[in-house]
Amino acid sequence: KAKSTGRDSYAFYSQELTEQARQRIELASALRQALEREQLRVHYQPIQRLADSRLIGFEALVRWEHPERGLVAPGEFLPIAEESGLIDSIDTWVLEQACRQMRHWLEQGHALTFMAVNLSCRLFRRAELDGEVARVLAATGLDPKYLELEITESAVMEDPDTAEALLTRLRDLGVRLAIDDFGTGYSSLQRLKRLPVHKLKIDQSFVRGLPDDRNDIAIASAVTALGHSLGLCVLAEGIEEDAQAGFLRELGCDYGQGYLFSRPLPVSEVERLWPPA
Ligand code: C2E
Ligand code: MG
Ligand code: MG
Ligand code: MG
Repeated sequence: KAKSTGRDSYAFYSQELTEQARQRIELASALRQALEREQLRVHYQPIQRLADSRLIGFEALVRWEHPERGLVAPGEFLPIAEESGLIDSIDTWVLEQACRQMRHWLEQGHALTFMAVNLSCRLFRRAELDGEVARVLAATGLDPKYLELEITESAVMEDPDTAEALLTRLRDLGVRLAIDDFGTGYSSLQRLKRLPVHKLKIDQSFVRGLPDDRNDIAIASAVTALGHSLGLCVLAEGIEEDAQAGFLRELGCDYGQGYLFSRPLPVSEVERLWPPA
C-alpha cells in the first residue's frame, strides 16, 4: 500500500464507500425489524422548575434495546432512520407511548404540566402531521395542553414558511411548541416573533461553560431575556453542575434539565422518584 497510484486509491476509496453503504442498508433493515419486534424504548428525563426545584415535566427520548449491543443512543440510529424514512414511524410510535404514559401519570394524580416529545425535521415534509398528532391525542385520551412538541431551530429555518404554517395548525390543536437546541441554528428574530411557540430550549453547548465562560454567560443571559421579552418560557438543557443551575436560577431561566437532576430514565425508575402514596 506504500505506493498507490491515483487509480488505486480511487478503487480503495470506492470500496470503502460501498462498505459504508452496505452497513447503512443493514442498519436500516435492523432498525425496521426493531420497530416491528418492539425493541425500541422510551426513556423519560425529568424537567425541573428552577425557582422551586419542583419536578414538573418530562422529555421523552427514544432508545434502541439491541439484543447484542444493549441500549443504543438515538445519535447512533436516528440519522439512518431519517435517511430511510423510518423516522416517521419511530416518531409516531414515541409520541403515542409518551402521550399514553403522561395520561397514566396524570390519572395517578402527579402534578405534571407537560410531556415533551421530539419531532424530526423530516416531519416538515409530512403535511398531514397535525392530523397524525390529533389522531394520537384522541387515541390516548391525553388533553392536548399537556403535550409539548419540540422542533429544532434548524428544522424550522430549513423551510420557514412551511414550518410556520404547520406550527400554527399544531398550535390550533391546543398543544404547546418548543424550539429545541436554540442558539445552534440561525433564526431570524423577525421569524421567531411570528412563530406560535411557547418555549425556547437553550442548547447544552451554551450551558457547559457556565458560570465562568464569558461567552456562555452572554448567550444564556441574552436568550433568557429575549425569550421572556417575547412572552416565552425558557429552559436550559444539559445542566450537570450545581453552579450552572444556580447561575440560571439567578438569571430567571424558568426550567432546567440535565444529569444534575436526573438522566433519562425508564418508566420503572421514574416511578421510584414519586413520593410514596
Ligand atoms: P435533544 O432533544 O436536545 O435531547 C437532549 C439530549 O441531551 C438527550 O440525548 C439527553 O439524554 C441529553 N442530556 C440531557 N441532560 C444532559 C446532561 O446533563 N449532559 C449531557 N451531556 N447530555 C444531557 P439523547 O437521548 O442521546 O438524544 C439525542 C437527540 O436525539 C435529542 O436531542 C433529539 O434531537 C434526538 N431524539 C431523541 N429521541 C427522539 C425521538 O423520539 N424523535 C426524534 N425525532 N428525535 C429524538
Ligand atoms: Mg429535545
Ligand atoms: Mg435539545
Ligand atoms: Mg440537543
